Amino acid sequence: MKTHRWFLTVVFLMLAFSLTQWIFGSPRAAQRQSNSTVTPKYIFFFLADGAGTAHMEITRQYNRAVHNESLVIPDKIMKEGNLGLIATDAADSLSTDSAAAATAFASGCKAKLGVLGMCADGSVPKTAMEIAKENGMRVGLVTNAPVYDASPAAFISHVPNRRNFSAILNRYLELEPDVLLGGGKEQFLAKSEPGSRRSDEIDLIAAFVKKGYLYVSTKQELERAQRGKVLGLFSSADMSFEIDRNKQIEPSVYDMTQAAIRLLHNGNFNGFFVFIENENVDTASHQTDIASMIRDYREFDRAVGLAYEFYKKYPRETLILVTSDHETGGLGFTLALKNLSSERGPNQVAATIDDLKKIDSIPISLKKASGILGPTPTGEAIDNLMKEYFKGFTLAPDYKEAIIKRQPISRTIFVDPTINALGMMIANNTQAYWLTTAHTNQPVFVAALGAGAEQFRGYQDNADFGKKLKALLEKKQSH
Ligand SMILES: [Zn+2]
Repeated sequence: MKTHRWFLTVVFLMLAFSLTQWIFGSPRAAQRQSNSTVTPKYIFFFLADGAGTAHMEITRQYNRAVHNESLVIPDKIMKEGNLGLIATDAADSLSTDSAAAATAFASGCKAKLGVLGMCADGSVPKTAMEIAKENGMRVGLVTNAPVYDASPAAFISHVPNRRNFSAILNRYLELEPDVLLGGGKEQFLAKSEPGSRRSDEIDLIAAFVKKGYLYVSTKQELERAQRGKVLGLFSSADMSFEIDRNKQIEPSVYDMTQAAIRLLHNGNFNGFFVFIENENVDTASHQTDIASMIRDYREFDRAVGLAYEFYKKYPRETLILVTSDHETGGLGFTLALKNLSSERGPNQVAATIDDLKKIDSIPISLKKASGILGPTPTGEAIDNLMKEYFKGFTLAPDYKEAIIKRQPISRTIFVDPTINALGMMIANNTQAYWLTTAHTNQPVFVAALGAGAEQFRGYQDNADFGKKLKALLEKKQSH
């Protein structure tokens, strides 16, 4: 009987506790909920265009072997944050392009190749950055591609063709991003100006200045910009590969990120959303240029490091997202043959740290090397190029022949024959091989740290990723 009464008391207490929980909510559940509904005030969206996990991993191995340094993305963002994997396919293709992929990220829907900010189902939703702007946040676009290139453009514009640059730029002028930094001056100059690629006499730089922008075109001018809206155009089209960059005049992605943080944060109480891209990782991968790719990924990682420092100051209000739109090149170190004489053991060669050091010894991009040889390369010029820039590398006779005859050596696209042969030469000498010169359908990682980061865990579609990003900003709107 005593036991019975004791049992009833316990049941009563449990019921009472549950009822209280139901009415007032448990402290732990409330904490969980506040974590999942947290609204980031400062959002960094880092995009390494065309970078797969192998691009990151090779740069991590390179940083450790050559510079004795860690890499921020795996060693800080992934370790302290959340990791997800993203399916990248477009609405009409298994392997995507930057336009469809960035539209998925920015608008939260599947899009067709080449389309910006318009969904395959015909809808044209607001982008995450447009919502941020409506929320009163400052917004910024930073890239070493032209500022109107597909990835940044998808965050602000809605056009059926990614090459409709004037429509994209008119939209920029209308939305007025607080920071717009990158290349692409040729589309800002009036037709009669030297170097212009516009078909009209509109001077877009003047149009931005009229709207109150400070216009800068060098690293020093950018460093001096302390506040206000800034338009920075540092090259006529794409900015230089990190490996070729004139470090006195042209800012790197790291330099532009530093300026963007300063400009977006100075005297701002409403937070910001900044998109920061390294396009050259993709361009170098299209050109099977491992040395350029590593240098650019490394500079991209240093830029992520700046956001990480910012996060350390404002951990509860900052969200850092690091991802890619797709993988380019099907890259990886592999076991290969020294030459075609035999498949046997002694002729097989595995990749080692020495290969990373060999890659590090290359001082120029393949694009620049191809430029040095010009449109009619001679055997002597090729020998000189090898002696000067590829010390310790051997060029197989068939590749040399292909360069002289300007004949492609594979069915891959995008690449000029000289670059194609030199890319294969580096692969033969270092075991860093490329499957293709185009995009692949490999899923890409997302490393997310800070406020709302747990939303991006696990396997997800790129459009769902975009929906989650927008939902974080829409929550802010409903407050
Ligand atoms: Zn690409």
